[in-house]
Amino acid sequence: MKNINIYHEKKGVKYISFAPLDEKGVINAFSTRIGGKSREPYNTLNMGLHTGDDCQNVIENRKLFLDRQGLNLSNAVAAKQVHSTNLQVVDDSLRGKGAWKWEDALDDTDGLITNSKNTILITFYADCVPIYIYDSEKEIVALAHAGWKGTVGKIAWLTLQKMKSHYGTKTSQCLVVIGPSIGPCCYEVDENLVVRFKNAGFNINKLAKNNRPEHYLLNLWEANKEVVLQSGVPEDNVFVSGLCTSCNNDIFFSYRAENGITGRMAAIIALNKGEMTDDGDKS
Ligand SMILES: [Zn+2]
Repeated sequence: MKNINIYHEKKGVKYISFAPLDEKGVINAFSTRIGGKSREPYNTLNMGLHTGDDCQNVIENRKLFLDRQGLNLSNAVAAKQVHSTNLQVVDDSLRGKGAWKWEDALDDTDGLITNSKNTILITFYADCVPIYIYDSEKEIVALAHAGWKGTVGKIAWLTLQKMKSHYGTKTSQCLVVIGPSIGPCCYEVDENLVVRFKNAGFNINKLAKNNRPEHYLLNLWEANKEVVLQSGVPEDNVFVSGLCTSCNNDIFFSYRAENGITGRMAAIIALNKGEMTDDGDKS
């Protein structure tokens, strides 16, 4: 697997960007847990408002994460993620929704798409799979939140379909990054879940490895890659970060590794526009 992860540290705040998106000039990042204000068990760069953490700290953390990249939280749009396959196309009028408070986040949505050059899409994770999509021809960006439900529901395929129907996207022109999330090293599931994937048409022999009676290690990275390839995105345009959030609990929050009480990382994607960013390297 090609290493696409670029590590950044700016004034103590650590985050990752992905080389294939960087090379296209697309604003993209995945936060770590390093450099924020929150206390245990949300220590320290918790991005999730619905986690039980102090909301002021979460807002401070979000500002830190975006400020360090020369971005403004007021331009971000967030959703109340519910492990659905519901998608929303967003425009300038929705900027700020869900950025500062949970109440006005977009309801019941796990995928965001935009062609707005002023809007930052932001989604939240603790083991689930972030899927970054960029249509280089039509200049469209999207982010999808795929846990096992979103993966088996093929949210990546649905997002690409929505980009097609709404904007005329050609999947041959898309670049996809499958970001850090729980890996096939740590994601143990029971047989029922494997059957669900099988019934949904996934190549389960490739994706699931029997590791003890009635239990399997499931590869959500490859499952999502399979979905993206079936959508028509060329294999050369699909990249997997390969970072496991559960193995790397020192730099990432992990729902599994921390028994469900933990913070969230944020994924962001935005089209680059001179006036939205200042010099991101000013640290
Ligand atoms: Zn792992």
